[in-house]
Amino acid sequence: MVGLVIILSLGIRPAQHLWQAHKGDAVSVPLQNTGIANDVSQLNPTPMRTVGLGTDSAANLRQLRELLVLARATCTTVSIAGAQHSMGGHTLSPDGIRLDMRAFNYMRFDTVSNLLTVGSGATWAEIIPYLNHRGRAVGTMQSDNAFSVGGSLSVNCHGWQPNQPPIAATVVSVRVLLADGRLLTCSRTKNQQLFGLVLGGYGLFGVILDAKLRTVPNELYSYHRVAGAAENYIQEYRRHVDANPQVHLAYGRLNVTNSRFLEEATLNYFTTERLAKADYPMVEPGLLDLKRAVFLGSKHNTYGKQLRWDLEQGLSKVEEGSEFSRNQIMNESPSLYMNRSPGQTDILHEYFIPARHYNAFRLALQQRIPRHKADLLNVTLRNVYADTDTFLPYARREAFGFVLFFNQGTAPADEADMTALTQELIEEAEKLGGTYYLPYRLHATPTQLRRAYPQFDEFLRLKLDYDPQELFQNKFYQRYRIGIGHSIGNAKKQPVRTAQSSAD
Ligand SMILES: Cc1cc2nc3c(=O)[nH]c(=O)nc-3n(C[C@H](O)[C@H](O)[C@H](O)COP(=O)(O)OP(=O)(O)OC[C@H]3O[C@@H](n4cnc5c(N)ncnc54)[C@H](O)[C@@H]3O)c2cc1C
Repeated sequence: MVGLVIILSLGIRPAQHLWQAHKGDAVSVPLQNTGIANDVSQLNPTPMRTVGLGTDSAANLRQLRELLVLARATCTTVSIAGAQHSMGGHTLSPDGIRLDMRAFNYMRFDTVSNLLTVGSGATWAEIIPYLNHRGRAVGTMQSDNAFSVGGSLSVNCHGWQPNQPPIAATVVSVRVLLADGRLLTCSRTKNQQLFGLVLGGYGLFGVILDAKLRTVPNELYSYHRVAGAAENYIQEYRRHVDANPQVHLAYGRLNVTNSRFLEEATLNYFTTERLAKADYPMVEPGLLDLKRAVFLGSKHNTYGKQLRWDLEQGLSKVEEGSEFSRNQIMNESPSLYMNRSPGQTDILHEYFIPARHYNAFRLALQQRIPRHKADLLNVTLRNVYADTDTFLPYARREAFGFVLFFNQGTAPADEADMTALTQELIEEAEKLGGTYYLPYRLHATPTQLRRAYPQFDEFLRLKLDYDPQELFQNKFYQRYRIGIGHSIGNAKKQPVRTAQSSAD
């Protein structure tokens, strides 16, 4: 009702536009055939057998060990799936077994150390209310709540937490089940090498059963926004975020309208006001249909993009000067904007660029993107500090992440065009000393991957130390293990070792 009133108050043209966007929205994503698994991109239909785990962790461990023995005996590959929001088949392997970890979602909170022990299948949407009850909040996570802990650790995610390394820095330890059935606790002092390989390891070294995560206080933040020329974004960031230790969340947004394409930016940041008491109320975000219509109406539509840019400040999740709890802000669902229509899909890219090359990369995006078919719907900017925990870091020094959200068709020509665009943007990022993020489409060439991640061949060699039969596989591994000139692929025929009991 409120949404309707707002729409009507906007005038006839915007109201008609938003109504059409709303009417054109599909109700749900099309169902796949049974026996066919996919990920959020809907571009990876893969014949697989899915095994779901129960909630009893002891029984699950037994079941997992039996399954690994069976997989080894039958030379069947195993892929591990959380919420499946990776986009390149990172949870899929043809004719393999897919472990659905989502029921593995137990939680325990230690009130002395403030550490959360959490099953790897738990999503942030489950964790945030649990911590909220205790006056605590997640330290580092993505900007939405749909992802699992296992998936988040395995890509080493990051979000709106400024001037911090990615999530690995908040992990005290993980328990990992290896291909041979051993259960190891890994931390910075115990099984240290495996700790760095599993975090950001894309499910290739073993199954993360659970993790001990540092938490932070749930606090009340007040919201601030600075709008200006995109070229000044880094100066504004240094002035408002770096210079103020009270800032605890921050992100930027670039204008994607045709008339001012990547020319304007907003810096959005949140400063701490005071602690939020336990069980601080979290309200359901309102006006969802209206916000979704504003977003959908911007797809492939010049007028809709301008309308969205003009409106979204007022309709965004927070109002200038308002107070919100950290948990409230971080508990947003991506359902607000996820595509449901067949024949198209939304695809993310992310590039991590040194601050001094921010403008050069922005100008490269301005030139390259309009030459392609994909429709750029959103750009957010994040800051991330160097990651010294993982073996395969995307942030080897401080970087600004450009998160690009595209809509594209699913036809082969659309895929080919997106492949060309992705390769061009990776090239631009690499020229500027930047890297790109690995959980998205597998369009990078194997050479590009190795330029961005020079440790990748060593990463593959170490995988064989921990998983000599290459039991844990996914499409990411299958695409990029090629061309490294050693015996990967011949390793499969080794004798099957039996599961051992816990040996950390
Ligand atoms: C709409 C959207 C917004 C996003 N926003 C952000 C963002 O703000 N910041 C960011 O950093 N990323 C972002 N991402 C990327 C996201 O963080 C990754 O795709 C992440 O992996 C999603 O978690 P998941 O539970 O869906 O993982 P999945 O896709 O299920 O799995 C990802 C990888 O983790 C492995 N894995 C999963 N569980 C386990 C386990 N228990 N043990 C071992 N391996 C496991 C899988 O095998 C796979 O290789 C976004 C993605 C989408 C679609």
